[in-house]
Order: sequence, then structure tokens, then C-alpha cells
Amino acid sequence: MSENSGLIYLDNNATTKVDKKVVEAMIPYFSNEYGNPSSIYELAHTAHNALSHSREIIKEFFGAKNELEIIFTSCGTESANAAIRGVTEANPNKRHIITTKVEHPCVLNTVKEFEEKGYRVDYLNVDENGELLVDELKNLVNDNTALVAIMAANNETGAIYPYEEAAEITKSINPDTKVFVDAVQAAGKIKLDVKNTKVDLMGISGHKFHAPKGVGAMYVKKGTIIKPYMTGGHQERALRGGTENVPYIVGMARAAELAMSALEFENKIVKELRDMLEEGILKNVKNAKLNSRTKNRVPNTTNIGFEYIEGELILLHLDKLGICASSGSACTSGSLEPSHVLRAMKTPFTSLHGSIRFSLSRFTTKEEIDYVVKNMPIVIKKLAKISPFQKELTEIFSE
Ligand code: PLP
Repeated sequence: MSENSGLIYLDNNATTKVDKKVVEAMIPYFSNEYGNPSSIYELAHTAHNALSHSREIIKEFFGAKNELEIIFTSCGTESANAAIRGVTEANPNKRHIITTKVEHPCVLNTVKEFEEKGYRVDYLNVDENGELLVDELKNLVNDNTALVAIMAANNETGAIYPYEEAAEITKSINPDTKVFVDAVQAAGKIKLDVKNTKVDLMGISGHKFHAPKGVGAMYVKKGTIIKPYMTGGHQERALRGGTENVPYIVGMARAAELAMSALEFENKIVKELRDMLEEGILKNVKNAKLNSRTKNRVPNTTNIGFEYIEGELILLHLDKLGICASSGSACTSGSLEPSHVLRAMKTPFTSLHGSIRFSLSRFTTKEEIDYVVKNMPIVIKKLAKISPFQKELTEIFSE
């Protein structure tokens, strides 16, 4: 269980541990270099320079052309809100939005608000492997389309979506339609190269790649007009008022640097461990089914359904063993809602409620994976004994 404080943390798509090197980079900007980057004296210059340097690094992280295209925000949710509201409100005559059925709630709930105001919203489908049916865009983009919002990688399944192709299709039909990509789960896991795409806006969040919670960024392609959804001072080219959170931005930039420098090497190792976990569970647990069977997945994520077993119970038992993972269900107002992503994939009801997402990081070790693979059959067998589906489970386990 190594340096990970006795816990086996396999919920890195929810949040990540802050890298010690990131903390080190941030510390001077709390009590020593605490100036407001917009002030004019020497103390402020240091903060201003740290901000400029961080912007340069985050520009590289997005693969953008110009650091003026980078706006610092507080999180992925803010980036999505700023993009969706910013584009639609700058183009009030266009009242059509296209997104997917499997976006994060920060996109789905924001476009829902526009739907309630009378906008038409179309939702792209995914297939049962979790792949996005991007060709559906060809029949949907029209003169009235203000925005297409597509995620780069899905938080629940890890499936990578062809957002570059989506942007190509969109622009070939209506060059004025803006394309926003929620790259929160892609940043730090796959290389971003936004300048070589037709994407107009992209959002990321620091805490998904070993920076702290509460800091994010947005790419806004030069020439893209958006209405600032947060008005205030002139900060961030007047697109996002509010004094910049210098220590956290410095931390996010350091985390981005670390992610970029080791991307290929670390992801090879993370992928090997993920595959080991996936194969181990699928081999040793008879009612386990892989939910996202696409090869095109971020290297750290797997989503596995355990037929006829309740996901929340699996999580509680794993927690007792010091293993953190996440279920496809979200506990909303006391009722267990199956995941909208798995439902969109038409995951059979037999495993819909018993799906578990395991998401690894560069801090995951082989010993940890071995421990999970060893314990998973024990947990599932224990839960199978108390499942109301005795007949079905007896059949599966006696095969
Ligand atoms: N988009 C995706 C795909 C996510 O997975 C998340 C968080 O889980 C978000 C957006 C929201 O990010 P934040 O927590 O920084 O608001």
C-alpha cells in the first residue's frame, strides 16, 4: 500500500492527490510573494511574472498558439459555464445547441437551462461500447446552431471522443458555429493540440492532474467573441473579473509541466496497471462485465459492471478494505439513479446498478493492483450471498 497513506486510491477521475512538487511551487506565493498581480510595485511584479509564466505553460498544455488565448478560472465547471453562456449570449439570434447524452452535469445542466428558455438542444448518442456517434452531427448542424459542446474524454468510461472530427464536421456546415470541448478528463492523460483543430473553446481543471481543487483554465481561440459571464475588473482580458488565484495557478502550471514531461512514459505504466486490473477482475470474477469496450480510452480508466450486485454495497465493502473507487450511480435526493452515461450506452439493467469505475494515477502501484485483484472475488462472493438474485447468480457462478 506504499506511500499512499495506507489507502488504495482508485478514484482519480473524481480528484487527484496534489503532487508534493506542486505544493513546493505554490508555497512562496501565499505569504512571501503575495502581491496582487495587477498592482504596480515590485511585490506585484513577482506575482505578475508568475502569472505570465504559468499562462505560457498552460498555453503549451492546451497546445495553443498564443498565451492570450488562456483564461484562468476556478474549475472545470466554471470553464464550461463561461464557454456555453459566453457563446450563446454573444449570439442571441442563434437558438440551437448540440451536445452529447454523456456530458458531465456542468454541461448538461447548463444547456438544460437554455432548453427551458426555448432553445432547441440536440443530444448526440453513443453506442454500447461507449463510442460517440459523431456522424449524427452531419444532420444536426444548421444556420441556427450557436454551439456544439463535446467532451474530449468521458469521466465514467474513459472513452475518448473524436472532438477534432466533430469540429471539422461542424465548421464544414456552419463556420460560425462555435465548438466547445470539455477536456477535463483528457488533460494530463492525452496530449492536447488545440491549435491544429477547429475547436474554439476548451476547458480543463487542475485537480484532475495533481494540482489543487479550485483552479482551472479555459482556451478561447483568438477572435472568438464571448460575453463574459462573470463581470468585474479587467483581469483575464476582462473575460473573467476577479483577482487571479496566483498560488493555485502556479500550482496548476507546475502540475501541467510534470504531466507533459512524463506523459508518454507514465501513461504506458498506468495503462499496463489498468489493463492488469481489468483483466484480473474479468478473469477472476464470473459476473464481471467490461462496460466501455472501446480501445480508444484514456489509459487510467476502467468501468466494470458486476451483474446482480448493488454498486453502493461493493463500494462500502471496498472502503472497509481501504480501497477507494466510484460507482456509476449517483445518490440523488435519497434515490439511486443509474448513471446517465451507462444508460445512454444501453448497458443491460443486470449490471447497470452494479457498475464500478476504477481510475488510476501515476501514484498507483502494482502491489495495490494485485491487492484489489485478489480481494475483488472475495467481496463479490460475499455480496452474492445476500443478493435478491440468488437464482441468476448461482447459474453464473456454477458455469
Ligand atoms: N467535466 C468533466 C468531464 C469532469 O469529469 C468534471 C469533474 O468530475 C468536470 C467537468 C467538473 O470539474 P470541476 O470539478 O473542476 O468543476
